[in-house]
Amino acid sequence: MVEKITANRFESLDETLSQLNREDCSIIAGGTDVMVLHKSRRGVPPKIPKPIVFINHLSELKQVYQHHKDLHIGACCTYSELLENPLIPFALKNAIKTIAAPAIRNRGTLGGNICNASPAGDMLPLLYVYNAKLLLRSVNGDRMVAISDFIQGPRRVERFHNEIVTEIILPYVLEDSHVVFEKVGNRNADAIAKVSFAGFVRISKDRIDDIRFAFGAVGPTMVRSIDIEKKLVGKTIPLAEADIAAIVAAFDKIIRPIDDQRSTAAYRKTVALHLLRYFLSMKQYQPN
Ligand SMILES: Cc1cc2nc3c(=O)[nH]c(=O)nc-3n(C[C@H](O)[C@H](O)[C@H](O)COP(=O)(O)OP(=O)(O)OC[C@H]3O[C@@H](n4cnc5c(N)ncnc54)[C@H](O)[C@@H]3O)c2cc1C
Repeated sequence: MVEKITANRFESLDETLSQLNREDCSIIAGGTDVMVLHKSRRGVPPKIPKPIVFINHLSELKQVYQHHKDLHIGACCTYSELLENPLIPFALKNAIKTIAAPAIRNRGTLGGNICNASPAGDMLPLLYVYNAKLLLRSVNGDRMVAISDFIQGPRRVERFHNEIVTEIILPYVLEDSHVVFEKVGNRNADAIAKVSFAGFVRISKDRIDDIRFAFGAVGPTMVRSIDIEKKLVGKTIPLAEADIAAIVAAFDKIIRPIDDQRSTAAYRKTVALHLLRYFLSMKQYQPN
């Protein structure tokens, strides 16, 4: 006998929030993580233990706009929509192009990548270095939380069952910043990251004003250390070898990857530190 699943699809965000307040439901945006998580054997529909609420059609969650120079991205924007949007930073688009293949990019959403909280989520390292904030809404109102506080561990986020992530907010970044994303996987397309890295740097008259790094897939959440980053502020570029070595050594102590089906801890650590060294050794950083 086929098991019944209750599925809700409301016309507005308010109705959706009221439903979430009444009952603990599984939120489905693009479904590209949820369906895999609950998949059954071939030919058998996925077993989702709670009633479902669909959200990816809600226009309130699909806006992209600037407000006081901050960039607000609706949580249910798909990757394909973001690639088409002129407001989305170049570095974020580069990272999106490394995600899966077009079919998944047509369904998968930025909010879904964040709320799935996979250590290998490709959007996360960049969102950490952009100091992204998340706007969560429930029937009780809005609250804002830093992405680094929201993500607690693999598939663990700080969200009450009646809340939806409505927006991802990228605080204003001066246009002279250089931002990169690097992903190492089995192949260039359609691969989950073995290691990923995001770097952000802003230079003024050859001196570092601001620098940030985040590593993905080398720990339960993104690895970032503001204390280590601070050591480079005020240094001139190109950086001295001793400074580079000190930063690499500092990350060597805090990056603790694991062995799994995708890679080994030793490989992940070596590659992560090489990506960092490569970023720090650049002679020039072009604003992008
Ligand atoms: C074949 C394949 C390839 C993939 N390749 C990659 C890849 O290369 N890189 C990568 O990072 N990921 C990859 N993924 C994973 C997935 O596509 C992404 O994580 C995607 O961004 C998930 O978005 P979604 O909208 O489909 O999320 P969903 O599956 O709908 O949701 C994911 C989780 O987030 C919750 N959720 C979603 N939106 C919200 C919201 N607004 N508020 C609160 N909770 C919410 C859901 O309840 C669920 O727990 C791949 C998946 C597949 C199936």
